[in-house]
Amino acid sequence: MINFNIPYISGKVYKYLSKVFLLKSFSGNGFFTDKCHQFFTNTYNYKNPLLTNSCTSALEMAAIILDLKAEDEIIMPSYTFVSTANSFANRGVKIKFADSHFNHPNIDENKIEALITPRTKAIVVVHYAGVACNMDVIINLANKYNLYVIEDAAQAINAYYVNADNNPCILGSLGDVGCISFHETKNIHCGEGGLFILNNEKFLPQLQYVWDKGTNRIDFKKGVIPFYSWVSLGSSFYPSELCAAFLHAQLPDIEKVTRKRLMLWNTYHKNLSGYSNIFKTPHIPDYALHNAHIYYIVVKNITERNNLIQYLHKNKIQALFHYQALHKSPYYLKNNESINLPASEYFSDCLIRLPLYYKLKKSQVIYVCNKIKEFYNLL
Ligand SMILES: *Cc1c(COP(=O)(O)O)cnc(C)c1O
Repeated sequence: MINFNIPYISGKVYKYLSKVFLLKSFSGNGFFTDKCHQFFTNTYNYKNPLLTNSCTSALEMAAIILDLKAEDEIIMPSYTFVSTANSFANRGVKIKFADSHFNHPNIDENKIEALITPRTKAIVVVHYAGVACNMDVIINLANKYNLYVIEDAAQAINAYYVNADNNPCILGSLGDVGCISFHETKNIHCGEGGLFILNNEKFLPQLQYVWDKGTNRIDFKKGVIPFYSWVSLGSSFYPSELCAAFLHAQLPDIEKVTRKRLMLWNTYHKNLSGYSNIFKTPHIPDYALHNAHIYYIVVKNITERNNLIQYLHKNKIQALFHYQALHKSPYYLKNNESINLPASEYFSDCLIRLPLYYKLKKSQVIYVCNKIKEFYNLL
């Protein structure tokens, strides 16, 4: 069987985990957490990176830090993971879904302005498959209406947006906050994990408090205060040192992993592009330097999608569809009128993700491509 994903494991993982046992310091915010923070500062020049338990946790931190609450509205794509919406819905925030581009699952920046009302507080962008959204347009819109920009960069580690001046900007550094995932399905992982990046320094004073359960323990640790108190909203947002050590072992391999994934991605693309009357392949805008998180094709309809997935499965290839558009979800429809977002529904019905991971071989990618062509009688 060619699996859809096999999580990457670096050789250093066991050594670093043993070190946690030696140090006998298992809870969070210790030696390896600091090491990970240093990596993100040194490698990507991220401002104020903080490890979290997940990208979901990071998005929940964003909702608290930006003080988004009931009566506020935010705009986001419907074609995304549940957590993009839930992290804000948990605080009573009203979600307005915007449609995707027809040639890419990312939010269509031209569909945002019509959804802005006096209550709108933020735009949440999702860089699907590690492909940047059209950030200059979105940030200009946010500035015009005084809105925050939140980047759900869950899939976007080591991926860039190329701005109008032709400078590559690392994803997660462009919005007021950025959120990344290290779930085992992502390019680099620690089982469950995430990163919160604060770019808007207006919120710097609360940052550590929200991260550390709403307490000022950081000031206590520095010896500035005699005891720590409840000073803010917050939660248990940071991971244990076991997760941080695992992640610290994986992080130096990001370039190597990305390079291999890009090679495999390009192999798919070379073999599957050119049949656009039968199925579509990913469109990468000029402003996106992606990280090969996902290779997908988009077929004509849901029946064809299911048949192709079944055909690949019979040939020992695991291919998967992806998100169920959130505007069609039971929870959304319980509280909102039904709306039509045709591009989002199109990707829910027709997108198929193909196997892509570090250990996958080029010959296996070619085998997958040939089985797809065989299904369509293209060989
Ligand atoms: C994976 C993912 C998440 C959730 O990340 P976790 O670390 O599992 O919480 C959120 N948004 C998007 C777009 C994702 O792909």
